[in-house]
Amino acid sequence: MPTPDDEAGGFAAEVRAALSERLELRTAADPVVVLGAGNDDLEPGRAYLRALSDGGWAVPTWPREHGGMGLEARGAAVVNRELARFRVPDLYPFMVGIALVGPTLMAHATAEQCAEWLPPIRRGEQIWCQLFSEPDAGSDLAGLTSRATRDGDEWRVTGQKVWSSRAHYSEWGLLLARSDPAVPKHAGITAFALRMDQPGVVVRPLRQMNGDAHFNEVFLDGAVVPDRHRIGGVGEGWAVALTCLAHERGALSGGGPGLSFERLVGLARGRARAGDPAVRDALVHTYIALEVARLSGKRARDLAKAGRPGPEGSGMKLRATTMFRTYADAAMRILGAEGVASEGEWQTLFLTAPSMSIRGGTDEIQRNIVGERVLGLPGDVRVDRDVPFDQIPR
Ligand SMILES: Cc1cc2nc3c(=O)[nH]c(=O)nc-3n(C[C@H](O)[C@H](O)[C@H](O)COP(=O)(O)OP(=O)(O)OC[C@H]3O[C@@H](n4cnc5c(N)ncnc54)[C@H](O)[C@@H]3O)c2cc1C
Repeated sequence: MPTPDDEAGGFAAEVRAALSERLELRTAADPVVVLGAGNDDLEPGRAYLRALSDGGWAVPTWPREHGGMGLEARGAAVVNRELARFRVPDLYPFMVGIALVGPTLMAHATAEQCAEWLPPIRRGEQIWCQLFSEPDAGSDLAGLTSRATRDGDEWRVTGQKVWSSRAHYSEWGLLLARSDPAVPKHAGITAFALRMDQPGVVVRPLRQMNGDAHFNEVFLDGAVVPDRHRIGGVGEGWAVALTCLAHERGALSGGGPGLSFERLVGLARGRARAGDPAVRDALVHTYIALEVARLSGKRARDLAKAGRPGPEGSGMKLRATTMFRTYADAAMRILGAEGVASEGEWQTLFLTAPSMSIRGGTDEIQRNIVGERVLGLPGDVRVDRDVPFDQIPR
């Protein structure tokens, strides 16, 4: 097969040919599905990942020894662009495992841990969730208070997580917990792989404004984690978190195959609104937002070092958020009164768009990262950074 560097020489065409043996082409009538909104059916995603597991198509950036294609970001972008031509089911339930946990394990876990977890994640046989945020630790994630206490070869974890996407049908959670409250906040955190089906774990779904109940409160009461399921060193969980969050920003910037400009134009034509100047204006703004997001994604990928998105990923996520909101607003403008008087894929999209500004780190936090780490501006005020965690007033 030609290499990604030889795109003109046929890499994209080879990818398309290989995919067309396994998948059906998308049609203009296929619904807009992004970030799994409005969908709870896991089976199509499982079947798709099974079908693509041979050849590594579902995980193009994973190394070959872990069942991927070993592609750099640029080659993977070609695969993803070609995948967008085909009918791809809702993969969001599997994306925490594939796009966040998998690459994080490769960076921080032992060879035995990778061998145990990466194959079932890649094949869609194991769903993972990200147990990071807590009621008082979201943007200030390092302020988390869930407590991990060592007991021989095991750890006992007690505390509460919240907004844990898909935890209600996850087999495993990538958990951050405080293992040492006597040191500054970033230094006392350890990462673990937590089995979700155990007596010390209670999961309660929360209803979102788009109608889904896809994220959860997770209560941990003496939940048990064997020490062999610790990811990275004791007290080194912050590095694990940073790797995972960097990959999350990258994953959220994709937009999904549903955000097609042609489909939006089709909606305008179908409602006889394509001649309306306000609709035309919204379409042009959407086109620009899609292009800006595409190009920022390309730039961030080109700058990515060793497969891990850098701080440029925050700019990419901000552009993707703007793209998503602009697209959803344009759909509502086209639908007019129908947009509020009925329910369907466009309404789900519109009610899901605001979450983009929060999940994976808020817009304000992304701007802080861009300001400090890309533009070199003075840092945010952080008065508690060097204080032992148990001495911080709360
Ligand atoms: C759909 C969805 C799915 C999610 N899935 C998961 C998941 O699977 N796992 C998980 O662990 N978490 C998940 N989250 C949680 C998400 O990461 C947090 O909501 C997010 O980090 C913000 O934290 P918070 O809600 O506690 O808001 P807060 O941190 O309390 O922020 C409140 C407001 O203050 C602003 N703010 C805070 N600090 C600063 C600052 N230093 N500078 C400027 N402004 C600031 C914020 O931007 C925000 O506007 C999800 C959230 C959503 C919406």
